[in-house]
Amino acid sequence: MTEPADDIFAQLKQQATEQLKKITTPEELEQWRVNFLGRKGQVPRLLRTVKDQPAEQRAAFGQHGNKLRQELEGLLTAHQKKVGTRAMSQPQPKVNQAGLGHLHPLTLTRRRLQNIMAALGFLIIEGPEVEEEKYDFDALNIPFEHPARAETDTFYLAPRSPRGDGRVLRTSTSAVQVRAVIENDLVPPFQIASPGRVFRNEKPDPTHESTFYQLEALMVGPSVTVADYRSITEALFSTFFGKVASIRLRPGYFPFVEPGFEIDMSCPFCQSGCRLCKQTTWIEMGGAGMVHPNVLSNMNVDPEKYQGFAFGYGIDRFTMLQHGIDDIRLFWSGDIRFLKQFA
Ligand SMILES: [Zn+2]
Repeated sequence: MTEPADDIFAQLKQQATEQLKKITTPEELEQWRVNFLGRKGQVPRLLRTVKDQPAEQRAAFGQHGNKLRQELEGLLTAHQKKVGTRAMSQPQPKVNQAGLGHLHPLTLTRRRLQNIMAALGFLIIEGPEVEEEKYDFDALNIPFEHPARAETDTFYLAPRSPRGDGRVLRTSTSAVQVRAVIENDLVPPFQIASPGRVFRNEKPDPTHESTFYQLEALMVGPSVTVADYRSITEALFSTFFGKVASIRLRPGYFPFVEPGFEIDMSCPFCQSGCRLCKQTTWIEMGGAGMVHPNVLSNMNVDPEKYQGFAFGYGIDRFTMLQHGIDDIRLFWSGDIRFLKQFA
C-alpha cells in the first residue's frame, strides 16, 4: 500500500541525501542541518502539516516524518565524523574552561514525546504548577472527601481549607487541559496534550517520587472512541521505542473517566520475557479511559453530543524503560556520573 505521503518523504530524503554528498566543510554541513532539520527546516515544517492530513492517515504520516528525521539525524552524525563540526574547526581554548552542559534525560524524553504527539495532530499546551483545587480536583470529578485530596497525598500551599478553595502543587496535568478548554472556549473536535511536572506527597522509593513528569492527552469529538485511543497510543509507543507495539486494556477506576483502563504495552525489548517486563512480555504504562460526562460538562462541553478519551503516562517511566534505569530517584539525585551518560 502506497500512501501519497510516502512520496513526499521519499523525495525529501533523496534531496537531502544528494546535497549531503557534496558537502565538504563544517559550515556547509551546518547550513544543511538548518535547512532540513532546523526549527524552520523542511522536515519539521512538513511534520507540522500533519493536522491537514486526512484523520486516518495522520498516525502514519507522523511515523513517516519522525522516521525521516531520525534517518537524517543519523546521516548528519555520520557526516560530522567525516568533515568535523564547526567547534572542531575553531582553535581550541588553551585555558581550562568549564565544560558545556547538556540536557537532562527527562527533558530529552519529554521533547521526543511532545514531537510525536504534535505529529499526531495534538496541540501541546502548558500551564501553572501551582493550581487551584477547583481545576486540579473538582473539575475532574474528584469530590472534596476523596482520599487523593488529603494532605497526606497532596501538597497544599497553606493549611487545607474546609471550603476546598485552596491552592495545591498540581497532582496531574489534567488541570492544564481543563483550563485550556474553558479559557479558550474550545469547541470539539479538539485534541490537546500537556506534558509537565506534577507533585504527590509520596515517600520516594525506586519506583515512586514526590515530583515526576507526566504526559497527558485529551481528544474530544462527536464520535471519538476507544479505537481512536488505541491507535494514537500504539503510534506513540511504537514511534518512541522504535518497534511496533500493541497495547492491552485492563479495567481500572479513575474518577475522571468511565470506563477507565489500566494500560499495558507489549514489551519492545524482548520476544519471550526479560528483566524490564518482569518476564511477562507486558509492561504497565499508565491509565486511560473515556472522559466522564461530568468532566465534559465541567469543561462546558455537551456530553450528549460529544465524547472523548484521556490518558496519562509517566515521562520518567518512558525514560527508565528506554535506558534500563531501575531507580527513579536517580533523576533528582544530581549525581553527575549518572547524568553524564546522557551527554
Ligand atoms: Zn521484555
